[in-house]
Amino acid sequence: MSNLLQGKNIVIMGVANERSIAWGITKSLHNAGANLIFTNRQERSYQKLTKLLEKNEVSAKLIVSCDVASDESINDAFSEIKKNVGVIHGVVHSVAFANRDDLKGEFLDTSRDGFLLAQEISAYSLVAVTKAAKELMTEGGSIVTQTYLGSERVIPGYNVMGVAKASLEASVMYLAEDVGKHGIRVNAVSAGPIRTLSAKGVSGFNEKAGVIEEKAPLRRNVDQDQVGDATLFFMSELSRGITGEVLHVDSGYHIIG
Ligand code: NDP
Repeated sequence: MSNLLQGKNIVIMGVANERSIAWGITKSLHNAGANLIFTNRQERSYQKLTKLLEKNEVSAKLIVSCDVASDESINDAFSEIKKNVGVIHGVVHSVAFANRDDLKGEFLDTSRDGFLLAQEISAYSLVAVTKAAKELMTEGGSIVTQTYLGSERVIPGYNVMGVAKASLEASVMYLAEDVGKHGIRVNAVSAGPIRTLSAKGVSGFNEKAGVIEEKAPLRRNVDQDQVGDATLFFMSELSRGITGEVLHVDSGYHIIG
């Protein structure tokens, strides 16, 4: 797998620390020879990322700030990438957010603001990012986002984020249709529960992980590296015939009734 992405410029959005799914993806894409560009929101994430890159001897082609809540920030980030890197061949969207209060108790209690916030950051952001990235993807390429089973079934506590992930997965289909004619594919990886900063905000994480060990066909949880390799598949030519797809990387848990 050492040269699957040789010469490809890939933007990775969403490394907050070494537990981030996007960091597992970084390792897989780096090992496949990709040139990596990163976007961060918080200064704290930028500091963590630069340390991680140094420690793991991964060099970034560029690191830019990007808050997906703002069209201006997204446009500025991709303009800077265009100026410094030129053509890009892929984007990893590994970004989501909901208020902690909306990730426990009953979905029924979700506020209007909380609902819209989750949709904006976790689903609409893929639409806005795809639009900005498309201008730089003149040689075609691949966009990959991260989703979760809570979009398909009621998972206790996932609540407003489950509805946002359903919206994200529908967006994957509609975007795949729009950009397919330009040689760009859009897919999602649906990972099982992985202990990350964001996962801490969802109530009942331990129970969710325990159920996978007990009931999933493989009887074990997945990790960031497994999601990284599945994302590598979507980024590479190996998946050239696939778009608009959601691939479960969850030890097979989603097939169990
Ligand atoms: P992390 O907390 O490590 O990553 C979440 C990232 O989202 C952070 O880097 C954060 O950036 C970024 N983010 C949040 N709000 C914004 C914003 N307004 N603009 C730009 N970036 C923003 O958690 P994960 O790695 O778990 O999450 C990555 C993705 O994987 C999410 O979509 C999540 O829903 C999904 N996923 C996670 C699973 C899990 O069990 N962990 C399972 C299945 C899917 P910053 O820190 O700079 O604010």
